[in-house]
Amino acid sequence: MHIPLSAQPSSSEDALIKNARAIHAKVIVLDSHIDFEAAHITSERNYTQRGETQFNLPNMISGGLDALFFVIYVGQTRETQNPDALKAAGYERAYALAIEKFDAVRRFTSEIAHEKIELALTPSDVRRIYATGEKVALVGVENGYPLGEDIGRVKEFYDRSARYLSLTHNGHNQLADSHTGERDGWKWNGVSPLGKQVIAEMNHFGIMVDVSHASKASMMQTAALSKTPIIASHSAARALCDVSRNMDDEQLLALKKTGGVIQIVAYGGFVKTTKSDSPDRSAALAAARKEFNLPELTGPGQRARFQSTLKELSDPRRTEYETKLAEIDKQYPGDPAPNLKDFVDHIDYAVKLIGIDHVGISSDFDGGGGIAGWNDASETFNVTLELVRRGYTEEQIEKLWSGNLLRVMDEVQRIGQQLQK
Ligand SMILES: [Zn+2]
Repeated sequence: MHIPLSAQPSSSEDALIKNARAIHAKVIVLDSHIDFEAAHITSERNYTQRGETQFNLPNMISGGLDALFFVIYVGQTRETQNPDALKAAGYERAYALAIEKFDAVRRFTSEIAHEKIELALTPSDVRRIYATGEKVALVGVENGYPLGEDIGRVKEFYDRSARYLSLTHNGHNQLADSHTGERDGWKWNGVSPLGKQVIAEMNHFGIMVDVSHASKASMMQTAALSKTPIIASHSAARALCDVSRNMDDEQLLALKKTGGVIQIVAYGGFVKTTKSDSPDRSAALAAARKEFNLPELTGPGQRARFQSTLKELSDPRRTEYETKLAEIDKQYPGDPAPNLKDFVDHIDYAVKLIGIDHVGISSDFDGGGGIAGWNDASETFNVTLELVRRGYTEEQIEKLWSGNLLRVMDEVQRIGQQLQK
């Protein structure tokens, strides 16, 4: 029988997609870093609706995302802008905001959407909830700032469900120097004396220490100080994208030595540095957005709004928009925006350097994350598909999507229990 040549690639493509779908359905797909607003969790308005957010339950379901860490993020104002930033009043403001977010996750998982999603406190909870077909929520804290100088709050945050906590965000705090010191100079030259106590306390209660946003010195000192494996909940490889938020090879090797894991983040600016558009290209793109009634893309927060408006266009209208974009690319070529392939290049790089057991995946959705091909939680399958294209096996993909992080979480809780004895 004669099979036309052109049919062969498409049938192997179909088989590849089928295989990727089977793997995606079989492994626990966990995103370790998704931001949220407590104001988006009320009885009238919440993540059970599609809304203008990258993360929500409808997107989670259609994208085959099984589990996520809701991030309790509290920013801080710099000492120079706000004299009480690192004093009692500043800490109390931050603490109140953190508690509001802890309460919002409880409300969402135990009242508003309790039939669809459940809060997990241990890796065995994650597996048990996943087996019931419900979605799994976990909690991480981004920035140790709301702990203030009260070390007792580490246990309080643990009791409130926190299972990882990053020492810093952008800007130095009472615990450690932030990566922003590469621009602004240093405060502690690494971890502060209080920060060292907080690391010991996190080890004691079984909270994973997160080094994303920390300076290199803070991160390296944390790796040496922590009695448990450490994690980077949302960072990428500095060798591929040279920004201070990413981790260089020396850091990645130190993280591996602790037994930890880096959750490679799909945040455009950390995946690839792109040259800004020429004025002609910017003007043409702005005109196209206007023609199709799409919102301006002024900042990272606009991405979710833009995507949801784009989805509302009719199919022929969206095709027209895509044709227009292709014309603009031809007439005024620009530096291509970071995409799924650039993102998975970081996974490949980290896997080659530190091994398949020390790499995971995060989006930073609703916190500035999202790239072409993984714009929101509904597109999560695309990541698995790209991994399958590159030859990753089911066993390896299981490790990347959740196996490694859950192994670390288990280990950290086990060591904590030993330390408490
Ligand atoms: Zn962050």
